Amino acid sequence: MLRHRRERFAGWFPLVIVVLFSPTIVLGEPVERVFQAGTAKVDITPKLGGWIIGGWEPIPAERVHDSLHVKCVVLDNGQARLAFMVCDNLGIPRQVFDEAKRRISDTTGIPEQCQVMSATHTHSSVSAGFDNRYAPDMQLTEYQMRLVEAMVQAAEAANGTLQPAQIGWSSIDVPEHVFNRRWFMKPDTPTPNPFGGTDLAVMNPGQNNPNLDRPAGPIDPEVSFLSVRSVDGNPIALLANYSLHYVGGVVKGELSADYFSLFGSRVMELIADGKDSSPMVGIMTNGTSGDINNIHFGIKTERRPAYEQMQYVAYDLANRVAEAERQMTYHNWVPLAGADAELVLKNRQPTAEQLARAKLVSERGEEIELYHPHEPTYARRVLQMQQMPPTQNIVLTSVRIGDLGIVTIPFEVLVEIGLELKQRSPLGDTLVISLAGGSGGYLPNPKQHAYGGYETWLGTNVVEKQASVKIVEALLKLLKEVADS
Ligand SMILES: [Zn+2]
Repeated sequence: MLRHRRERFAGWFPLVIVVLFSPTIVLGEPVERVFQAGTAKVDITPKLGGWIIGGWEPIPAERVHDSLHVKCVVLDNGQARLAFMVCDNLGIPRQVFDEAKRRISDTTGIPEQCQVMSATHTHSSVSAGFDNRYAPDMQLTEYQMRLVEAMVQAAEAANGTLQPAQIGWSSIDVPEHVFNRRWFMKPDTPTPNPFGGTDLAVMNPGQNNPNLDRPAGPIDPEVSFLSVRSVDGNPIALLANYSLHYVGGVVKGELSADYFSLFGSRVMELIADGKDSSPMVGIMTNGTSGDINNIHFGIKTERRPAYEQMQYVAYDLANRVAEAERQMTYHNWVPLAGADAELVLKNRQPTAEQLARAKLVSERGEEIELYHPHEPTYARRVLQMQQMPPTQNIVLTSVRIGDLGIVTIPFEVLVEIGLELKQRSPLGDTLVISLAGGSGGYLPNPKQHAYGGYETWLGTNVVEKQASVKIVEALLKLLKEVADS
């Protein structure tokens, strides 16, 4: 315990003050500080017959391949309490998370700024969104209410099972499973977009395409994780973060939590080392993966049978994380803190010309020559965007666990934004969780906006082109706030 305080003071106090303070710390430490952790998971597998979203067109959910959950970890150090809540879903609107936060804060006392809530971004679940994704209703849908109730139940259960624990964190690089999916193409390759223009970057350009030039952005190979175990060494929970959109390769019409859940159960099995791992909770959160997927575009690979690729990725990551966990240092007590902030972003609005074209395509799309095969989809979206308010408020959260920083962003965030935050963070290792505290389309940085491509198209991206710059600055301020707390 003394060690932590001394480490913190030594960084920014002159040596003489450390010397003066040290005896005071030793004498003034009569109460033993206890670190505690609790976990829970609640099933959120949707009813069959709902619409699976995540592809271009929704498809009905006909079977359950594997169950979907909300998983929760609560940490308490006697001074502050944090809750992490991760849902197997494509993306959850802010209104749903806000309702859950309010109720959890009422029943557990965990302040809203200390609650980190996100969706994994499995592409094989039903929508947790509103009918018009650009204009939220006042009323939550039936499935949204079910998610709120499951989150509250999970938080209360985790909060009710707090036990003395130790915590540690580490990170490893696993570049093998992540590829930037946005590519520059060789000169003279046609790269039209649904708005009548031409892009520089093309999403998912096809494996081994002879016109590929080079990826339009980097990857983030880092798998960061934190792990909690009981004081006698039994694993309790592990929460990891990796910048991989999802893996997929499911059977059409089946519900699945994708590699996120396979990683979670496998890593706990490995860490449990023969003990019953079922009460433990393993979680994979989504990093900044808006432009990162699991397809190596430079080569042609064999298509594996359904669910094999996600298992391959999940098990390999679980092996490597479990190995790193064995080398990791656990702490008996660490500082915890959380802070959040609201940020107002302008929404992009279609131009009069775009609206006129969208009306024409939606009325007479069969008869006219289209700019792009997906133009009818974007025409629909542009028309729906008319109901979107001119601005939206997003919530950003930052928590600190010892010298580990965690921040949240409510979009499908392109990877360079996460890399910048990690590089500029005032804390040690920093994890960036996307699809957190809300959802709301893709978030490219201004450089990627200039390249164009799917992630930047009006309708897939709805917030102003400077949004990422504002978000990064706001999060760095929040990180500093929790680092100084
Ligand atoms: Zn996606």
